[in-house]
Amino acid sequence: MHELSLVTSIAGVLRKECKKNGIKKLKVIRLKVGILRNVVSELLTDAFKMLGKEELFKNVKIRVCAIKLKIKCSVCGNEIIVKIPENIVLKCVKCGKKEMKIKEGNELIISGIEGE
Ligand SMILES: [Zn+2]
Repeated sequence: MHELSLVTSIAGVLRKECKKNGIKKLKVIRLKVGILRNVVSELLTDAFKMLGKEELFKNVKIRVCAIKLKIKCSVCGNEIIVKIPENIVLKCVKCGKKEMKIKEGNELIISGIEGE
């Protein structure tokens, strides 16, 4: 369950941020997670519950926004959004070159927090 290690590192960042901003209790954590990260948002929420004993994370709600996989051809600049990552073909449909680079889809960003 790699969600747990993810949450541990996210929690580390949040502890620092909250201390800096004088937040004692978090209400909402917004995350943007690339589809390639293979994160299941329910598991992520569960993993956060394990931190629930800590006052800061008690009853916090996790909002996960999935980022689709976007690849770009380095030859012609053609961009493709891949809906099903399992079917990824790293070949440009426009020029036929196999120079596709991943542009988006591997992110893990804390996009916002709400707390008091
Ligand atoms: Zn191309």
